[in-house]
Amino acid sequence: MTVNFKKVTKTPLEFSIDSNNIVFKGSLKYDTENLVSLKATLTGSIDLDCDLCAEEFTLPLDENIDFFISNGVYNGMNEEYDVVETIDGNINLEELLDSEIELIRSGYHSCENCKQEERN
Ligand SMILES: [Zn+2]
Repeated sequence: MTVNFKKVTKTPLEFSIDSNNIVFKGSLKYDTENLVSLKATLTGSIDLDCDLCAEEFTLPLDENIDFFISNGVYNGMNEEYDVVETIDGNINLEELLDSEIELIRSGYHSCENCKQEERN
């Protein structure tokens, strides 16, 4: 699902996409200075390899996602904003979902067995 940046207004635009057991659901809303605010949840599950024993396991997901999208390169002054830049004036939600999943994958994860051993 691709949304043209200029079509996003102050009225939240709801979206919901799923991919591989993951549901990415939320809204886009025009904010300020060529920025659109994205607020969403990521739910479902993801298959990962344990960083300790290398066994595959399923990690349940329940994440809140909150960032801004800028139309082109972001030149704003607000450095504490988490901003994703669009290149062609379109917001590609599948692409945003993919990068969120990549971000989760690149983190540290251990399976339930290893977690229990860590506790003992
Ligand atoms: Zn493990």
